[in-house]
Amino acid sequence: YSDGCVDDARLVVLTAKKAQQFGAKICTRTKCVKAEQGTHEWKVTLRDMTDETERMVSAKAIVNASGPWVSKLFGETLSMPAPKMIRMVKGSHIVVPRLNKGTEAYILQNEDERIVFVIPYEDEFSLVGTTDVDYEGDPKKAKISPEETDYLLNIVNSHFKRQLDPSDVIWSYSGVRPLMDDEQENAQKASRDYSFEVNSEKGKAPLISVFGGKITTYRKLAEAATDKLCQFFPEAGGRWTKTGILPGGDFANHEALEEKLRRDFPWLSEKVISRYVRTYGTTSYDILRDCHSMDDLGIHFAGTLYEREVEHLINNEWAMTSEDILWRRTKQGLYASDSDIEALERYLMKTVTTETRKTALHHSA
Ligand SMILES: Cc1cc2nc3c(=O)[nH]c(=O)nc-3n(C[C@H](O)[C@H](O)[C@H](O)COP(=O)(O)OP(=O)(O)OC[C@H]3O[C@@H](n4cnc5c(N)ncnc54)[C@H](O)[C@@H]3O)c2cc1C
Repeated sequence: YSDGCVDDARLVVLTAKKAQQFGAKICTRTKCVKAEQGTHEWKVTLRDMTDETERMVSAKAIVNASGPWVSKLFGETLSMPAPKMIRMVKGSHIVVPRLNKGTEAYILQNEDERIVFVIPYEDEFSLVGTTDVDYEGDPKKAKISPEETDYLLNIVNSHFKRQLDPSDVIWSYSGVRPLMDDEQENAQKASRDYSFEVNSEKGKAPLISVFGGKITTYRKLAEAATDKLCQFFPEAGGRWTKTGILPGGDFANHEALEEKLRRDFPWLSEKVISRYVRTYGTTSYDILRDCHSMDDLGIHFAGTLYEREVEHLINNEWAMTSEDILWRRTKQGLYASDSDIEALERYLMKTVTTETRKTALHHSA
């Protein structure tokens, strides 16, 4: 069989950018704190989490796609009972120095009948994961436990000659899967499928809630959700996203675009070229506009991260913090020392003001 890989954080940003190009207003760091269902519209209170200010908006419909928070949103925000509960299952990954020279990924079969992947990650690392652990509490606070680290290291150590211990773990991250609660005993056996709940009492503005789902099926899920929504808005157009290209994705293959960048920017380092192609595709040309030498990329922060890219992320991808830039948008945190992070934070203090943010939001309207 064949498989694909995606950087989930990039997928989210690029999907939001695409929506913005079609007129969506993207409100990052904004929480929906209250929503009241009216006859023809919802009255929604949004809280800006950067300054705690609140504002009201109205909506003809709401799609509750809040992942692990989907059931909680009913009780806390929508003031109605949740039609279904979600099963929260934590999964953690560790990043270690590259375990194999080639580009192949490994599937390790464990005695507990689970499989664990070892996947080439960025240029110099391997990603090892994942785990399946039932989880309670705030999904935002999920983090790897020492038991999960040991579990992953033990599997690697029983398959690879090279032996690892916890000091080899360069980075780890955890997430919470929002699975449909089908009352399976084992977390790993819970269904990865999705389902919808439609709440549309006669004449009232509709609410569509998404339970479960995978990245793999996100476009199918989105189409199905839109079909449900369109039943209430017959004037809306039909499906079109199946073959839609995300911003920067309009190129044939990585090698061809790398070759083109090499020709157009002969001074650009190979590492920058390969990461830009992977991260931005043809949007690399926007970042490199009017650059004629490495000096034109500005301050070097860490790894292959330069000022030019940081500016791009602030102005075009809603980045505000060092974590946004080093981890969510670029993964260059893997190469950043404490002093690199401090230097970036000092730079951001000067560059990202409340004003910058409001302007970015204004442009996304
Ligand atoms: C460890 C792990 C490994 C995985 N591996 C795979 C894989 O290999 N393949 C695959 O296809 N899938 C995989 N998945 C599943 C996939 O990551 C999830 O299905 C997917 O991220 C769910 O996306 P979502 O948009 O529904 O939820 P999320 O990505 O969780 O997004 C929900 C969003 O809603 C926001 N939100 C919550 N409450 C509010 C509120 N009141 N107001 C405003 N916003 C709110 C949250 O801040 C969050 O940003 C994995 C998941 C995990 C945890």
